[in-house]
Amino acid sequence: MLLDTQTNLVIDREIEQFFDSQSKHAYEEYIQKAMRYVTSFLDRNQFYSGDFISDFTSKQHLITPDPNINLTIDEALDEIKELYLDHTIAFHHPAYVAHLNCPVLLPAIVGDLVASSVNTAIETWDQSTSATLIEQEMIRWICSEMRLPDTSDGVFTSGGTQSNFMALLLARDDYAFKHFGLNLKENGWSEVVSKFRFFCSEKAHFSIKKNAALMGMGYNAVIPVAVDDKMKMKPDVLVQAIEKEKQSGNIPVGIIATAGTTDFGSFDPLQTIAKIAREYDIWFHVDGAYGGSYILTETHQHLLSGIEQADSVTIDFHKTMFQPVCSSAFLVRDTKHFKYVSYYADYLNPLEHRDEEYPNLIEKSIQTTRRFDALKLWFTLKMTGTKTLGAFLEKVHYLALDLYYNIKDDLYFDIAHKPELSTLVFRYIGLNVDSDTLHDTINLYIKNTLFKSGQASVASTKLDGKVYLKFTLLNPKSTIDDLLNIIQMIKDTGKDYKNHN
Ligand SMILES: *Cc1c(COP(=O)(O)O)cnc(C)c1O
Repeated sequence: MLLDTQTNLVIDREIEQFFDSQSKHAYEEYIQKAMRYVTSFLDRNQFYSGDFISDFTSKQHLITPDPNINLTIDEALDEIKELYLDHTIAFHHPAYVAHLNCPVLLPAIVGDLVASSVNTAIETWDQSTSATLIEQEMIRWICSEMRLPDTSDGVFTSGGTQSNFMALLLARDDYAFKHFGLNLKENGWSEVVSKFRFFCSEKAHFSIKKNAALMGMGYNAVIPVAVDDKMKMKPDVLVQAIEKEKQSGNIPVGIIATAGTTDFGSFDPLQTIAKIAREYDIWFHVDGAYGGSYILTETHQHLLSGIEQADSVTIDFHKTMFQPVCSSAFLVRDTKHFKYVSYYADYLNPLEHRDEEYPNLIEKSIQTTRRFDALKLWFTLKMTGTKTLGAFLEKVHYLALDLYYNIKDDLYFDIAHKPELSTLVFRYIGLNVDSDTLHDTINLYIKNTLFKSGQASVASTKLDGKVYLKFTLLNPKSTIDDLLNIIQMIKDTGKDYKNHN
């Protein structure tokens, strides 16, 4: 028995829990046992068990660790099955069509397991060595798919929100430096920055406004631009908005175009917007969190043309490249712009030891300790391949289109748009109802009832103030029959509304 004399705790069993050369057998045993439990999660026939939050109150003792009892691996797995695996949301289930959560690829899971076990921290060369080269190569690969120039570069981020943050930050600091000689990184806020304005479509992701607020500029620094009936930013309205801001003494500093809006999957006209950004000499960011991956397809590549002119790009591999969260990247046209986030810390990456040959990725990131998220993408590109990824994406697009043609003439539905990507937004309309408010209530009733029953998870959103339902299709194994099945449930639940209310 090993007695830690300082704490007086018996640690002889638990010390074997460290991942090292003595725990190889335990490692295999733990992982194999965990795998068996995870596969039981795959056997579930519903996307969700349908529990209310109150159903978990009786399980509070499972949620809270007991300081006096250390469980065995079997006990812990039993508990987590009862608490989580039997109840959590299964994104791979064909009845899950709510948000931008994809089913994940096995090669990516292997990458995540390896990365977590080895626990590489990617921020400096001396903590990661070849892992740094792998992340850089994944970045180089996606930059070249986007046809960004040789000066381009990028970094893995926690998601589209963080990538968009970096875009706004670089755009702002670069403008302040170029036009006012300001060094915001060193000296902080300057009054003129209150006049800086960003432009994006009214359907852009909320993280644009949220990030502007986090940067101290406020929501009002983001000017929403109207969209056409296909939910694409109207370039003439963009120009008017820029002119209007200039007239009132404000300073346009950047345009954010969306390649695949979160709700409608619509692509803003990138070529035209790129030209406008160039004419005003302001930053051009493309938020391709959802649609950026479609650069790998034949069907959608043309919608991304213009992205090669972007000053920066957001792409989420954990949305449309079937990666477990997190896996996402921020790309920039010219690597020199990373100077606005770089910091040289004596203990990590001192400037006097800077060596181009031995890169420290921390110089490009707003994070310090950072996971080796590029490894899962590496496994995916090696084992699944870019062509197949493109084919998967085409498949989910055609699924959305097929669904659209199936229900577009159905009197029970009002359809918001024809799918450009893989979402479909529509509204159930009861035939004997003519109040918009009641329709809103019925659509929310449908969404909530299906969710609670564990039968299907559909999202909702608003269009012109009215509640709509949304399908987000990211599962290439789903079939049109799976989807029509959900459509039938929606109709049945909608018709049933009056019996319950
Ligand atoms: C999802 C999404 C984001 C945010 O990405 P996260 O990875 O969730 O942070 C940003 N922009 C668009 C267009 C999105 O769809």
